[in-house]
Amino acid sequence: MNRRKSIKIKPSNKFLPILCSVSYNKKKYQIHYYKHIKSPKKPTLVITANIHGIEKISSLVALDFCKKMVKLGQKSPVNFVCIPCLNPFGLAHKTRCNGNGVDLMRNSPLRTKKKTFFFGGQNWSNRLPYFQGEKLEKENEIWLKLMKKIWKSTKGPVFHIDIHSGFGWKTSIWPPHTRSFKTKRNKQLFLPFKKMAAQNGMKYSDIPYNISGDMLDHLYELSPRNRAAAATMEIGTWKWIYTMPWRIGLASNWFNPPEKILKKVVREHSKALMTLVNQSHKPN
Ligand SMILES: [Zn+2]
Repeated sequence: MNRRKSIKIKPSNKFLPILCSVSYNKKKYQIHYYKHIKSPKKPTLVITANIHGIEKISSLVALDFCKKMVKLGQKSPVNFVCIPCLNPFGLAHKTRCNGNGVDLMRNSPLRTKKKTFFFGGQNWSNRLPYFQGEKLEKENEIWLKLMKKIWKSTKGPVFHIDIHSGFGWKTSIWPPHTRSFKTKRNKQLFLPFKKMAAQNGMKYSDIPYNISGDMLDHLYELSPRNRAAAATMEIGTWKWIYTMPWRIGLASNWFNPPEKILKKVVREHSKALMTLVNQSHKPN
């Protein structure tokens, strides 16, 4: 008897159309998406997740929220675009990197002079974590292409949340380019993120970091910044290791909540994203 009913997640989320596919070792992995641009003048909310394949919880949150937005359909006050899993190879194989061993969040052409040793990105070997790769990987090309289409086809503000998990005791909202772009951000546009954090017990973090090749920073740099805002939602998982030390041995436990509270965590974060919908169409 299976007493634990966990949410099943597959690399192919069949209720969503296929955006593109990537191939590794003659096997295809599909990237699914949802896109509903109701009116170009309305605000657009973009949710992306699971660029680090091991962070399954990020996909679960994105999918749950996406289902709610699909249900809302025409009643939604915002345009909505979602890629619940940017790294289907990583999700299928429970790895951080893609099939080439590249960390897709260290892979953009952005380079920092003072990057953090090793963690900030390395080009020694794809057998080690944080490998940057030499050129933009296909998953990131797909992401960039979609963002360019969104920027082009809309006229209103574009709010982009990229969901991750792992770092921190509780969920943090990180605006992009904390290192050098702080003063160049449109403060007004970042208010909905701040409010979402405040309303949902999350931490709005503006601490500088030195990562080379951050893809969200790269996308933000390319975006029409007078109407675009982006942030990382990092679901902090440390407390579930600290309070349940027997989970320490399995890598995926470092990035995901225990099975028994998975649904609760998904529900809480999906609800928080809904407050962003409300904030983003009346940002003041
Ligand atoms: Zn991540």
